[in-house]
Amino acid sequence: MRHPNMLIRTLPILLAAAGLTCAQNQDSEVHVWPVQGDIYMIVGAGGNITVQAGKDGVLVVDTGLANMSDKVLAAIKTISTGPIRYIINTHYHADHTGGNAKIRAAGSTITGGNVAGDIKDAAEGAAVIAHNNVLNRLSAPTGTDAPSPEGGWPTSTFLSDQKKLYFNGEGIDILHQPAAHTDGDSIVFFRRDDVISTGDIFTTTAYPIIDLAAGGSIQGTIDALQKIVDMIIPIYGQEGGTMVIPGHGRLCDFGDVLNFREMTIIIRDRIQDMIKKGMTLEQVKAARPTQDYDPLYGSTTGFWTTDKFVEAVYKSLKGEK
Ligand SMILES: [Zn+2]
Ligand SMILES: [Zn+2]
Repeated sequence: MRHPNMLIRTLPILLAAAGLTCAQNQDSEVHVWPVQGDIYMIVGAGGNITVQAGKDGVLVVDTGLANMSDKVLAAIKTISTGPIRYIINTHYHADHTGGNAKIRAAGSTITGGNVAGDIKDAAEGAAVIAHNNVLNRLSAPTGTDAPSPEGGWPTSTFLSDQKKLYFNGEGIDILHQPAAHTDGDSIVFFRRDDVISTGDIFTTTAYPIIDLAAGGSIQGTIDALQKIVDMIIPIYGQEGGTMVIPGHGRLCDFGDVLNFREMTIIIRDRIQDMIKKGMTLEQVKAARPTQDYDPLYGSTTGFWTTDKFVEAVYKSLKGEK
């Protein structure tokens, strides 16, 4: 079943200095949508925020932009007044981690449980879980910019390709996808509620956003999209079943992810063929390898234009940054 009213408008996107964010909202209101089971989605605060709420408290996936934290906290309270125990970050961009410091401070860590052993500061707010590359990106200076404030850094990182958590009676898989949108992307899978939070590996508002400078790649993006497709169990005819919360845009299901993966592979193949013919980047752009998909995903303005996508695919396939 498709959920009603999920046609959330495309967020205007702007590139912040140093590429630390991939989107910025200009709508000052946030909205809460029930997804299924204990899972909710908060939109309008930057990247989409996933909320799982139950008897043990609240877990959020991503925290939106820093300047939206008060509204995000108010929105979380409309879902549950329980303590915020966990924050999981899908990647380091500021539209997904900007609210970490404030939302973490509003929560409290569980002492005991299956991740407490590696939490450094059990007394100081919610635990922030992310792949180690997220911490590296948030804590390392980028060019002339200072690193992001320490209060927003992950407190519990993992180096392997998977971390497991059990919370609110539900198993949660955190699955690292190397070199996709960035080098630190995680897919978060709520096993009982059958919901996947993808971060910016998958969005409905633009072509795949590949942050080459932060270790992203076209092949890694395709591999991660394939992983999401493999995890989904639809009901009939591709609709319903596992629900998918994208990094930006509306709630999705199997057919949406399948179409996005197909589009990405087709455009990758076209650009690969053009590279084999010896075409330059300018020639590839002029040949418009995305033309038939531009009405759905294309853009000539904003942060992630069609030209930038084509350039990222071209450079990624040639092994350039
Ligand atoms: Zn991003
Ligand atoms: Zn984003």
